[in-house]
Amino acid sequence: MPRESHAARAARARQVLRALDAAMPVAHIELDYRTPFELLVAVLLAAQCTDKRVNLVTPALFARFPDARAMAPAPTPVVEKLIRSCGFFRAKTRSLKAMSAALLASHGGEVPRSRAALAALPGVGNKTAGVVTVHIGGEPAFPVDTHVRRLARRLGFSPSLIPDRIEEDLQALFPKEDWAQGHQLLVWHGRRTCFARKPACDRCVVAALCPKVGVPKAEPLAKSSPRPVRRRG
Ligand code: SF4
Repeated sequence: MPRESHAARAARARQVLRALDAAMPVAHIELDYRTPFELLVAVLLAAQCTDKRVNLVTPALFARFPDARAMAPAPTPVVEKLIRSCGFFRAKTRSLKAMSAALLASHGGEVPRSRAALAALPGVGNKTAGVVTVHIGGEPAFPVDTHVRRLARRLGFSPSLIPDRIEEDLQALFPKEDWAQGHQLLVWHGRRTCFARKPACDRCVVAALCPKVGVPKAEPLAKSSPRPVRRRG
């Protein structure tokens, strides 16, 4: 099979996005939230947990601790009890309280719109920061979670397994205005069709555009890439 040029890959990537958008026009984040703070908390809780479970837990949590001012001094046992079913509840409680204290100390209790400022908060990684900025209309990002990572590889958009490098490849393929929607559509497609095990290629709307159609098994979990990571300024 001839090597695909960057221009051809970018054109195919846009076709994929259009097809996914036509098939899933309602794709949206599946975590419930009303404010940027609630979104940040929900995304933190969703680590190693389903969105459905997080949505069961957050109404009671947000009723008691709706913002950074309330969460920072919250009694640890109370928070732990409220979020216990999300898993890793001790570490997540520490993160929620430390993150809230940092918001108060450095941002007046508000969630910053800058990805770098978000990623500098305790317990907030680059992916979480990207998901939050995308949904609060902050700095543009194409955050890479487990679904985006798998689909970027299967669709031939990035050969890497390293999230920062995958994001660079995706950002180079799509115009900036498509990054947020591209992230959301790949997540939805990964959850509903392109499963890690046994992807449903027979009913996939982008099968004709996918070099891995019929892929039989899960992708490898980790592999180093010889390409150095470019640091964003
Ligand atoms: S054809 Fe199969 S591997 Fe390719 S995107 Fe669709 S479900 Fe995933």
